[in-house]
Amino acid sequence: MQALETEQAPKPGESIAEYVRRLRDGLGLTQKQVALKADLHVQSLGKLERGKTTKLNRKTINGLAYALQVPGEYLESVYKGSSLEVAHAVKFCPKCWVPGTPPDALWTNVRAKFCFECGERLRNRCDNCNELITSLKHRFCPFCGQAYKLKKPKF
Ligand SMILES: [Zn+2]
Ligand SMILES: [Zn+2]
Repeated sequence: MQALETEQAPKPGESIAEYVRRLRDGLGLTQKQVALKADLHVQSLGKLERGKTTKLNRKTINGLAYALQVPGEYLESVYKGSSLEVAHAVKFCPKCWVPGTPPDALWTNVRAKFCFECGERLRNRCDNCNELITSLKHRFCPFCGQAYKLKKPKF
């Protein structure tokens, strides 16, 4: 059960096209079967899976969520992550995150508010200047130079 849920959760950096295709493959369904269940044109689904669709409305997201048996929030977060600036922000635990690695999917999950490891409140803004953090490729805030990772107190 747990393993299945993790499988279904979007992976960091996954596009909506890749995500939908992966879920559909995982269920062993054809585009036609998913389109029918999601109440979509099979061409629309094909376009979506090829990354040609940039706009999805709530009805489409809900239909796809139903057809692919995942929470609508999953699809929505992937969709927003690939198309909206603000949702580009990455959420992570400032204590457990290892600089230079991508954030854990359990942090970036839309419903996650606290770290699964240590209970720290997850962060998607710079602690110092409050700018949205859009990439963890960098270790420091490009706006103010603050390190993203909390330093462990020495004593
Ligand atoms: Zn943590
Ligand atoms: Zn900053």
